[in-house]
Amino acid sequence: MTHQKVRIAARTLIREMGLLGSNPTPLLPICAELGCRVVKRDLGGIDGLFVPVGHPTIFLNERHARTRRRFTLAHEVGHIILGHYQVAHAEPVMERHADIFAAEILMPVQEFRRVAPIMDDDGIAEYFGVSLRAAQIRREVLRCPGGGVIAF
Ligand SMILES: [Zn+2]
Repeated sequence: MTHQKVRIAARTLIREMGLLGSNPTPLLPICAELGCRVVKRDLGGIDGLFVPVGHPTIFLNERHARTRRRFTLAHEVGHIILGHYQVAHAEPVMERHADIFAAEILMPVQEFRRVAPIMDDDGIAEYFGVSLRAAQIRREVLRCPGGGVIAF
């Protein structure tokens, strides 16, 4: 699977769920659609994990900040949508794909390009419900200039 196909899968999900323009992207409706519970636990050094047996459940680390948990949740949703749990062995490329998927559903490209020139990174992070670092990386990846506020 190419990176572009991962992005298209993410954009299709957001469109089909009717979530385009809903920021921060609500993730729980997506999990509900997937028939998946979301549970917070102390997972020690682990970000999150998906347990597909019984009632499928995504576990998130309650020690982590809300924005980080949101990214982890979007990442786990990516694994599910991309069918990663149907193969025997996880590969590093799957982690990369799940991260790309997560960035795409949390910071949809069109909306990001719309707001990037008029918001600084703190504003973008708050707008999309992501960490400052995630917003900065997204700006770099999409090569969006700006990072300032328009002066009137
Ligand atoms: Zn993963």
